[in-house]
Amino acid sequence: MMDVVRQRLPRLGEDPAREYRLGIMGGTFDPIHYGHLVTAEQAREALALDLVLFMPAGAPAFKLGKHVSAPEDRYAMCVLATAANPAFYPSRFEIDRDGVTYTVDTLRALREEYPANVKLYFITGADAILDIVSWRDAASIAELATLIAATRPGYDIGQAQASIEESGYPFDVRYIQIPALAISSSNIRDRVRMGKSVRYLTSESVIGYIQKNGLYRFEGNERDA
Ligand code: NAP
Repeated sequence: MMDVVRQRLPRLGEDPAREYRLGIMGGTFDPIHYGHLVTAEQAREALALDLVLFMPAGAPAFKLGKHVSAPEDRYAMCVLATAANPAFYPSRFEIDRDGVTYTVDTLRALREEYPANVKLYFITGADAILDIVSWRDAASIAELATLIAATRPGYDIGQAQASIEESGYPFDVRYIQIPALAISSSNIRDRVRMGKSVRYLTSESVIGYIQKNGLYRFEGNERDA
């Protein structure tokens, strides 16, 4: 996978004084929508990221036993949604890995793959970050990556900050407020199931894919991840 990163940043590692910043958009992306795309774009801009990998979780750790669409469908929608942005790339890295998806495994693999002048930025929703102290090997995550937590308007970051502080782990968390995160994947799934319009909540290409493949038509009809 990785080698989209080497292709796009061919001088990686040649000059240890030059820092590269790699964003990793972590999520279930069931489906990907404009809230995710705006998050990635604003994180890219705010933190001067060189590339952002959209990495759908294969078997999301906190969703075991819940219906999640097939990894290939979630990945395909990421391919469609990111196609036009030269800084965005879909990544199969987590869907091609067997077993439960743990972020620490991903960050360790990326850390081993790239030289030290490539800094890792893990981007996800603030609600997910709220639980981060209970993720597998949270202490290592704190060492491996800067976290970018996207909040919906009105979101109170106090709870997340308190649990992170209490943990004593050296997390570096940047919060960015994304009004477009009023859009949510669950709302899109509900709207599709009810036969309502989802236009302008995600790209036409993703909407076409949802329709063509009959995703979200019935509650629980999602194929198991
Ligand atoms: P989630 O609980 O489905 O999402 C929490 C909230 O964040 C939802 O409101 C969600 O909105 C939003 N969100 C999710 N990904 C986002 C993104 N990239 N940008 C902006 N908002 C986002 O969380 P999840 O999708 O299962 O997990 C998020 C990431 O954390 C994944 O990469 C997952 O592997 C990782 N994670 C790791 C562990 C672990 O290692 N133990 C445990 C939990 C999560 P939408 O529903 O609209 O996306």
